[in-house]
Amino acid sequence: MGDRLEFLRRGRAELGNLGVRVQASSAVYCTEPVGGPQEQQDYYNAVLQIEVDCSAPELLQICQAVEQASGRVRRERWGPRTLDVDILLFGTQHIATKALQVPHPRMFERRFVLEPLAQIAPFLVPPGCTEDIAATLQRLPETPKVGKVLRIW
Ligand code: ATP
Ligand code: CA
Ligand code: CA
Repeated sequence: MGDRLEFLRRGRAELGNLGVRVQASSAVYCTEPVGGPQEQQDYYNAVLQIEVDCSAPELLQICQAVEQASGRVRRERWGPRTLDVDILLFGTQHIATKALQVPHPRMFERRFVLEPLAQIAPFLVPPGCTEDIAATLQRLPETPKVGKVLRIW
């Protein structure tokens, strides 16, 4: 919601303030909303490659602190929000607790995740997978479409 690009910029900066070292940023991909209420604005999505000294559960806490700093308030699941920061992968770890699942269980069916991820890590083979991100992306349906791409942000 709101100034979507600015929330992404501030979120990335805030991660840095909390000790997360950002090593690569994808472009920002604008995509039609999937699920949730009708009449939402397009979503802006980006993927970061990061380095941290903390554990995955600690990183989740950092992600949630960054969401809170953006003033995120949730009304309904998959409804619009100012900022959503998810952990897609954490090295080669598999995590399956109630609070945290890694790899993110829905990432492989989401073009709005795999397009930006493929931009920075096309040849990455996630744990439990037999093919790389570029190959997984190729097999996804074209819709919902990824639209405009903002290379510098
Ligand atoms: P989706 O998970 O389908 O992308 P969402 O991001 O809108 O939907 P949220 O409401 O932001 O879902 O998150 C709900 C809960 O998901 C969080 O409180 C968190 O504990 C949990 N969660 C589980 N795995 C992850 C992950 N890999 N990254 C972030 N949150 C996760
Ligand atoms: Ca999400
Ligand atoms: Ca989330």
